[in-house]
Amino acid sequence: MMGGKEGLILAAGSGRDVLKGKFRGCLVGLALGDALGAPFEGAGSVDKREVFAAAERRQVLRYTDDTHMAVGVAESLIACRGFDGSHMAGIFIRNFEREPWRGYGPGPPLVFQRIKLGVPWDRVAEEIYPGGSFGNGAAMRVAPVGLFYYRDTVRLREVAFLSAQITHAHFLGKEGAALQAFAVALAVIYGPSGSPEDLLERMGAFVTERVYRDKLEKMKDLLGAADPAEVAVHLGNGIEAFNSVPAAICCFLRHPGSFEEAVTEAVGLGGDADTIASMTGAISGAWLGIEAIPVEWTAKLENRDYIEELAVRLWETALGQE
Ligand SMILES: [Mg+2]
Repeated sequence: MMGGKEGLILAAGSGRDVLKGKFRGCLVGLALGDALGAPFEGAGSVDKREVFAAAERRQVLRYTDDTHMAVGVAESLIACRGFDGSHMAGIFIRNFEREPWRGYGPGPPLVFQRIKLGVPWDRVAEEIYPGGSFGNGAAMRVAPVGLFYYRDTVRLREVAFLSAQITHAHFLGKEGAALQAFAVALAVIYGPSGSPEDLLERMGAFVTERVYRDKLEKMKDLLGAADPAEVAVHLGNGIEAFNSVPAAICCFLRHPGSFEEAVTEAVGLGGDADTIASMTGAISGAWLGIEAIPVEWTAKLENRDYIEELAVRLWETALGQE
């Protein structure tokens, strides 16, 4: 089990600045993946060169609901020095009302409306979707949970589940969020010198649901596949958590040494491109740190200063928990 000991080794051995760079890399990477993927949402597979060219043509790399909600998760974790479901739901509502144009799906506004009418945050999602949703909306925003609880796998899973519960109550939606948060935590601890095979082992031991375990197993064959389209064929590229979290992880594992290769590959899968690329970007940014992210992209990222400031405050708050 990943535990406090490994986290302490990282803090002592690599220094606080490395850790801070990973927190910054994770949130900036998440926002960039989202922004780079947004124009390709719903597309078929796209060549990486077209993804690079599209980024170059744009003046501002504007992000969507994925980043907007991840920002809300970070804001709430910082304000409460940990998880508070009622507070986090309130922040989601506040942020949505300020910027409802960020490309939210139909679900969140319905959830927010009912919470405002007095339905408890942990019951509202099941009222709207009997049985709960297994979309990737909880996984897309969960990276700050992976950062904040990177040393405590048990609490990481608990909070990933609880934060998912606000909108996604199905166990496959929650498990997808937990797996994405765990991937971020592993990236903080083991990057950039760890091996993809070792990460796959650890993720395989972490997941409890068969669909995720099977896809992690399948990933072993995909690490060396020449054609990136194979990733979408075998792991999916859709809006279901189990058809997007594994694909996002796989794009990172295929290019652990390069943020731009990992993220453009994720965008190039097409389908739910912004969400998949934002999850890849969060893991890759946490693995490599902020310095590995191309400045041509960060310079054009919308609200970059605020996102970095939030990452630093999350880092300070997480360390203050010791
Ligand atoms: Mg989006």
